[in-house]
Amino acid sequence: MAKVKVDVSTCVGCGLCEQSCPEVFEVQGDGIAHVKAHSCSLHNLEEIAQLCPVAAIKVE
Ligand code: SF4
Repeated sequence: MAKVKVDVSTCVGCGLCEQSCPEVFEVQGDGIAHVKAHSCSLHNLEEIAQLCPVAAIKVE
């Protein structure tokens, strides 16, 4: 199973990942995206990682 990580020092909280896959990403009160799950049957997480404007998402 993929391992999804958000680099908290890089994330700017734009919310794009959460909009693209709310099953996995959630921007919380600290203004940073958090990972809720490491897989999603609906979305390609590698593609979402590419959407991040600051390349804070890593999918291993
Ligand atoms: S797309 Fe990137 S910068 Fe935007 S909230 Fe998600 S991890 Fe943070």
